[in-house]
Amino acid sequence: MEKTPAFGMTLDDWIEWMNERGQPKFRAKQIVEWLFSKRVTSFDEMTNLSRDLRNQLESDFVIGLLPSVRLTGSKDTTRKFLFRLHDGRLIETVKIPANANFDGERSGRLTLCVSSQVGCAYDCKFCASGLAGFTRNLSAGEIVGQVMSAEHETGETIRNIVFMGMGEPLANLTNLTKALTILNADWGMNLGARHMTVSTSGLAPQVEKLAKLPMQIRLAISLHGATDEVRDQIMPVNKKYNINRLFDSLQVWQRHKKQMITFEYILIEGVNDGLDQAAILAKRAKSLHAKVNLIPYNTVEGLPWKRPDIPAQDAFMNVLTKANISATIRREKGHDIDAACGQLRLQEETAEGIS
Ligand code: SAH
Repeated sequence: MEKTPAFGMTLDDWIEWMNERGQPKFRAKQIVEWLFSKRVTSFDEMTNLSRDLRNQLESDFVIGLLPSVRLTGSKDTTRKFLFRLHDGRLIETVKIPANANFDGERSGRLTLCVSSQVGCAYDCKFCASGLAGFTRNLSAGEIVGQVMSAEHETGETIRNIVFMGMGEPLANLTNLTKALTILNADWGMNLGARHMTVSTSGLAPQVEKLAKLPMQIRLAISLHGATDEVRDQIMPVNKKYNINRLFDSLQVWQRHKKQMITFEYILIEGVNDGLDQAAILAKRAKSLHAKVNLIPYNTVEGLPWKRPDIPAQDAFMNVLTKANISATIRREKGHDIDAACGQLRLQEETAEGIS
């Protein structure tokens, strides 16, 4: 039988597991302390638990640290981990340096961009992740495991998490919710809810469900088009939930959460970079008091899309700033490693013959 990653267990799950074995509640607390505070890498090191209990843990669970197949980038730049899962699948996790976090704020806090699925079923036309299709959801343990493993490998503390790696987090809502709980818990990774951002291509009903989770997490919407006409061309999800439906769900979100919503907007030459789109985007952002994060497109091998030149990017940005929208433009260097999600994994899986 498949062993469960211990990182994916909540304190309540441990209490139940202990209870089934006639063990007192406080043993559950001891386990999470070993895992998240003392950071042991084997059950054997949990020396305040009996030998018998440690053996039982060993037979039901793995700790959940992920071996890294490859690490690109250097300490102070964007670093990309390629982690191997128990079934041989690969996922990417990207560490973004403190002075260039995802929305351009100089927060001085390390951000980790995590994956939520192996592959993606949403087929956005510009994205590398969808190219190989969808394989499976990540478990809560594999999501938390990315953060624990990145800290383990670098010795640094991650302060922000963005769900902008591979996959559509809202299509994996149950595991996402559990992972958020563990990341946020004081007995877990103790990350502030405000430091966790879930990004979605626009799964409106799931936005409404997540809105009701009593945790002040942030939401980013991968908008990439200000009208249905443009969005329909590049994001098939828009045919299911169009912009009006999506915005209805964002109203629901705002009734439950205090943080501003962020619109992610990739600039793709000749597709969505017209100033008419910028004007509509400005109106839409204003209607929700949302921030806009412009991202010049990262080219993907095998896809025809290009980024607009700098003057065209600036012209688009100007329309937003003139309309008093809080907007940033991501202009970091090193697209080679920072490139679109999914690329590194595709290369490696192709090389290894996994598909
Ligand atoms: N499925 C979720 C999260 C994963 S994608 C979502 O759509 O939000 C994370 C972000 O990277 C999204 O905004 C996505 O649109 C963007 N992205 C995908 N391919 C890109 C590319 N080639 N260049 C720049 N951004 C890209």
